[in-house]
Amino acid sequence: MYFYGTTGINNQGHLEIGGVDTVQLAKEFGTPLYVYDVALIRERARGFKKAFEEQNVKAQVAYASKAFSTVAMVQLAEEEGLSLDVVSGGELYTAIAAGFNPAKIHFHGNNKSREELEMAIDHQIGCIVVDNFFEIELLKTICQEKNAKVNILLRVTPGIEAHTHDYILTGQEDSKFGFDLQNGQAEKALKIVLKEKQFNVLGLHCHIGSQIFETTGFLLAAKKIVNKLAEWRDQFSFEAEVLNLGGGFGIRYTKEDEPIQPSQYVSDIIKEVKSLTNQLSLKMPEIWIEPGRSLVGDAGITLYKTGSSKEVPGVRKYLAVDGGMSDNIRPSLYQAKYEAVLANRPLDPVNETVSIAGKCCESGDMLIWDLPLPEPGYDDILAVFCTGAYGYSMANNYNRIPRPAVVFAENGQATLVVKRETYEDIVRLDLPLT
Ligand SMILES: *Cc1c(COP(=O)(O)O)cnc(C)c1O
Repeated sequence: MYFYGTTGINNQGHLEIGGVDTVQLAKEFGTPLYVYDVALIRERARGFKKAFEEQNVKAQVAYASKAFSTVAMVQLAEEEGLSLDVVSGGELYTAIAAGFNPAKIHFHGNNKSREELEMAIDHQIGCIVVDNFFEIELLKTICQEKNAKVNILLRVTPGIEAHTHDYILTGQEDSKFGFDLQNGQAEKALKIVLKEKQFNVLGLHCHIGSQIFETTGFLLAAKKIVNKLAEWRDQFSFEAEVLNLGGGFGIRYTKEDEPIQPSQYVSDIIKEVKSLTNQLSLKMPEIWIEPGRSLVGDAGITLYKTGSSKEVPGVRKYLAVDGGMSDNIRPSLYQAKYEAVLANRPLDPVNETVSIAGKCCESGDMLIWDLPLPEPGYDDILAVFCTGAYGYSMANNYNRIPRPAVVFAENGQATLVVKRETYEDIVRLDLPLT
């Protein structure tokens, strides 16, 4: 059994997290329930920040809030001195509602609407990551109307696509995001934005992928960008103050995953950028990173109650829980894998292999295939690990299933941070025929 952070087994022989008994949590708040190990989120945040501080490198660690965006989470990010990435008006609204310092908010997205950009400018957020030529024009117009000046980063695609265990070098990147670095688009964009007095061009941004377990992709991206920066200094006297290398740092979902330490990514990146800028006599830019999954992913678990089971003789046994793709769509969306235990008796001998099914009307609504478990009964509590990122944030009301509650656990205290949806919530926006 592999435990993350403060997760462990208490005196009652139950799974505990943040010093709180998960069986008690299921009883008090109901299931399905997302529970977060707050101390582990803090530890991860501090790990990234410390790695920069130790080397005296100016940096911003921006939490990519799409991984798990709620008022309490945004406030926790602020407590830990993180900046914040948002990719929509809704995420921006959440940040503002949480009282997050707007100067430390960065706005991403390949199709920000006029209303979203206006909202960002009205709140004077820290920077807008400009994605395409259309957006340059739109943002320019809005800034002129509002007589505003904004900090921007240009999002570029450096021709590196990183995946879990490998990376692909592409000549011209086939991506919906950003300006291509190699076909001249990025340079064309830079020329335009440097001329506009509405823009303060801070530097460049790239994001090469997700669930990445090596530093190679980040280093290659840094190299391509810094080389370009040297050309642009010579051509346009432009020197970037900020180099944002995005997020995508991998975490351990199952024993097949072997992540490296957050500090390792950071120190490798710093080393590479220092050496490149030295060689090219460029000034060392601030380095910004944008971890989402790696800040909250392994800090979250989901508690379910077990229900019906079905044996397909000679094939497998299905065990259904009281949630599924409505609270965790990742297994059906991209075959994501998880580990789980029975939270009410994690130490019982494992003597069965069951496949955990959700309760939605989709054959593809499976949470875990072939999970070794003690023979489960009715109303056991199943704890699925590592559901902290892209779980709640992708939750939906398919089959009109209310979305679960979210609890923060820390130092023996459980705090409800998102209420469970009710059936009234489900029909709240529906209008009857008149
Ligand atoms: C999704 C995203 C991130 C965060 O990715 P993780 O894999 O959760 O770390 C960071 N930056 C950008 C631009 C993203 O789109």
